[in-house]
Formats: sequence, C-alpha cells, structure tokens
Amino acid sequence: MRDAVAAYLALGANLGDAQAAVREAMDAIHALPATRVVRRSSLYRTAPMDSSGPDYINAVVQVDTALTAPDLLRELQALELRAGRLRPYRNAPRTLDLDILLFGEARIFSDALTIPHPRMVSRAFVLVPLREIAPQLVDASLLRSVAGQDCQPVAR
Ligand code: ADP
Ligand code: MG
Repeated sequence: MRDAVAAYLALGANLGDAQAAVREAMDAIHALPATRVVRRSSLYRTAPMDSSGPDYINAVVQVDTALTAPDLLRELQALELRAGRLRPYRNAPRTLDLDILLFGEARIFSDALTIPHPRMVSRAFVLVPLREIAPQLVDASLLRSVAGQDCQPVAR
C-alpha cells in the first residue's frame, strides 16, 4: 500500500451480542478500501462509564490505511450504521462505537474530528487494550492513572 499511515481505532459495543459485534467490526475494518488490520487486542469487558446499560465489550486495533482521516471516519460511521447503531441521545447504549484514537502523527481539531482522541488518556478500556498491542504508546504511569477502572480481558 502506498503512503499507508498507522492508525489506532477503539471499538466498543454494549447491546445485543457485543462480542460478536466487535469481532465482526474488526473483520469489516479489514475489508475497508485501502485499509488493513495489522494488530488486534483481546476483547475486554468494562462497566459503562459516561453511558448506561449492560457492560461494554471493548478492543483496539492497529490499521495501516491509505485513506485520509476524514474518509476513515466516514467509513467507520457507515459500519456503525450497518451494525444498527442509533443515536437517540448522547452517550446512549450502542451496538457499535468506532473511534479513531491516533492517526499517524496527525493532530486534528475540526468540528467532526479530534485526533488524538481527547478522552483516550482517561479511559482504561482504551489504554489497557492499546498497551496490549502498542506498549510503546502507553507508559506505566498513564496506565496507573486509570487503575481504579474495571477492565477485564474476556477473550482473545
Ligand atoms: P462518542 O464516541 O464520543 O461516544 P459518537 O460515537 O456519537 O460519540 O461520536 C460523536 C461524534 O464525535 C462523531 O460524529 C464524530 O464526528 C466526532 N468525533 C470527533 N473526534 C472523533 C474521533 N477521533 N473518532 C471518532 N469520532 C470522532
Ligand atoms: Mg464514537
């Protein structure tokens, strides 16, 4: 792939068969145009934080992509819709949430996109799976700052 960028994506689901939704999303991301999943974290279970409803299943993947960040976001939002996601209100339970954590070295502050993802450093359900596949990106002190949050591996 030409000019591929390494990006890290967070996946989350807490409705229906959330583990299946996250696994299917990993496969669907791998099938996006000009995009390959090169690392997948385990699946983790976390209690809802700013949200409600059943526990979440969370994971992080590393992709190589030749898409731009806005195009990647559009593709991810199409996958969310395909998985049946509705947005009845802010932080509502969701069948699938796909967020861009990091996009190469990019710093983006637009209405539609903030990268690095502003809340990633405060969420164990992002930092724990991210550290599993990219330990160089998550130092131990950062991880300690979210140690109070419950985030348990459930499956490979
Ligand atoms: P959240 O992921 O914060 O729980 P949503 O998935 O409903 O909420 O996303 C709301 C909006 O966040 C999206 O419409 C998108 O434009 C915006 N957004 C900003 N930065 C990002 C990012 N890094 N990754 C994904 N969405 C983002
Ligand atoms: Mg989102």
